[in-house]
Amino acid sequence: MERTILDSRSLGCYCCPAPCCQLQLHYYNAPANAEDIDMARYRLLFPGTELLVCDTGEWYLLHWKACSFFQQATYTCTVHSSEEKPRICERFDQEECWFRCNFVDSPGESLLRMDRARFERWSQEIRSAETGEDLLLHSFEQSRQIVSAIPIAPLYTPLTPDDKAGAGR
Ligand code: SF4
Ligand code: SF4
Repeated sequence: MERTILDSRSLGCYCCPAPCCQLQLHYYNAPANAEDIDMARYRLLFPGTELLVCDTGEWYLLHWKACSFFQQATYTCTVHSSEEKPRICERFDQEECWFRCNFVDSPGESLLRMDRARFERWSQEIRSAETGEDLLLHSFEQSRQIVSAIPIAPLYTPLTPDDKAGAGR
């Protein structure tokens, strides 16, 4: 099926598969003890759930699930310019887009995605200290080195070369 990227989006959205409309983020406390590690492992048992670690030290729980108003075939919002579109979407600065930067253009540079496999690897050192000693939390760079060898695929639908050729028509 041919897809057409509609021009209702800003230039900043050109050739972007719109991860902004296909995930939700929730603040998450970085694991601080063995119980937290166990809780994180439990969270990651649910399909489409990941933990995000930012180089600023913040953690997020990420759920991959597209918004009900998102049209996958065209990567567009079906309620654009209508009153149904949430104001938070209207106000979002598409030219300085955190989602595009971190999920499309420079993935892994300033945040790490942790699925089950990556988290198990990351937490190995911590779990060896489950005897009650202080947890050894990894720095962002250490964490990156620990998990980067484990591939993680995008959970949004990336643009195909055909999509890109059709962008802007
Ligand atoms: S992720 Fe950002 S750049 Fe891409 S479509 Fe959404 S707002 Fe636009
Ligand atoms: S309302 Fe539209 S812009 Fe907002 S998340 Fe849903 S599809 Fe995306």
